[in-house]
Amino acid sequence: MNAEEYGGLTGGGGPPDRAAQLAEGLTRVNARIDAAVSASGRADRPALIVVTKYFPASDVECLKALGVYDVGENRDQEASVKAVEVGDASLRWHFIGQLQTNKAKSVVKYAHAVHSVDRPALVSALDKAMRLEKERNGQSEESRPLLDCFIQVNLADKSAAHRGGASPADVPMLAAMIAEAGQLRLAGVMAVAPLGEEPARAFNHLAGISAELVSDHPGADAISAGMSGDLEAAIAAGATHLRVGSDVLGARPPVG
Ligand SMILES: *Cc1c(COP(=O)(O)O)cnc(C)c1O
Repeated sequence: MNAEEYGGLTGGGGPPDRAAQLAEGLTRVNARIDAAVSASGRADRPALIVVTKYFPASDVECLKALGVYDVGENRDQEASVKAVEVGDASLRWHFIGQLQTNKAKSVVKYAHAVHSVDRPALVSALDKAMRLEKERNGQSEESRPLLDCFIQVNLADKSAAHRGGASPADVPMLAAMIAEAGQLRLAGVMAVAPLGEEPARAFNHLAGISAELVSDHPGADAISAGMSGDLEAAIAAGATHLRVGSDVLGARPPVG
């Protein structure tokens, strides 16, 4: 779009520049995070992953210019193309969506972390894909960092609709598998607050699961939780990684 297409609508103030919109969204979300951090009395500040799904590579570039290096995507088909388009090795791509094992090979080409590890077959597929990718590139074991893996936990009652994620009872088994995999690093846990449940209750449940995990795996203390609608509750419950999309980028087009 050019300025003329907006002519008259903006009262001479110029087109609503995308970079300015994103800067405004980012400022708004960072203010929410700061307020929630101080309300919770935490000394640390969680990392913000800006979820860019459905938005173009140009938005990722704008965000990077605003100092955002962590971006989240939930579909490999879209993310793999976008990562090539942006082509910047300083960005960290976080894969946050349901992942089929046959997509592991593609995801490890660009992803720094996978937040949706929820079954043994996916652990094996990611480990193998990382090994093959290193061989393909002639990389040594040390030259590429391990793939950060978050175990996605399904916090919904068994009766509720399944939105992905392992049952809490399976977390120790998955954690042991990831910890033993040569190419993976166990980062911690991830969850989406179930529909119709109080986010604070869900995130406290997740914090309990995280504490149990950390007692077996001291380094695996990351908690990926909190989206546009519930980031305050996630921060109060100790989230270390927030995944925020629409409150930075605006409303997404409805999924077709
Ligand atoms: C889309 C998505 C988000 C971001 O959601 P918003 O409500 O737009 O902030 C976070 N986590 C996951 C798993 C998602 O799919």
